[in-house]
Amino acid sequence: MSTTLLEVVTPERIVYSGEVNMVSIKTGGGELGILPKHAPLAGTVKPCIVRVKVAGGEGYIHVGAGFLEVLPERVTVLANVAELPEDIDVERAEAARQRAEQRLNQHDSGTDVDRAEAALRRALARLEVVERTRNAGNVLHRPS
Ligand code: ATP
Repeated sequence: MSTTLLEVVTPERIVYSGEVNMVSIKTGGGELGILPKHAPLAGTVKPCIVRVKVAGGEGYIHVGAGFLEVLPERVTVLANVAELPEDIDVERAEAARQRAEQRLNQHDSGTDVDRAEAALRRALARLEVVERTRNAGNVLHRPS
């Protein structure tokens, strides 16, 4: 099966770099499935769980907002935050989820609802990446 190089980077680090069979990602234009030799394109990335097909199965990467560049032989995602399953601290995500839910339940005029909802979505996405990986097996590993 043909492959393309997927690189997921943040301003701080390379989160993932490896040959993959397919990438599914949420862009400004909607959900996009990218196969090797895809036509060149550039666009924005929405916070989401990136699904990645590799020889060993399917893996998941949590990404925040960012940018995407697709070339026939390479897909680059530059996101403000990104984590592989093994990067995710479940207790921290669970605490973030509870804090966000408390803020949303307060019905306090001081609550920044958009911000609390975004924090809740990030926490839930991190927990989902860990959960899906538990079920599917971990096939994406940190670059050495
Ligand atoms: P928290 O309230 O726990 O800081 P957050 O959603 O506000 O969560 P972000 O602003 O999205 O955090 O991310 C800040 C940095 O912390 C990023 O480098 C991100 O990868 C990392 N990070 C956030 N939550 C976790 C987590 N549960 N496990 C591992 N890294 C995390």
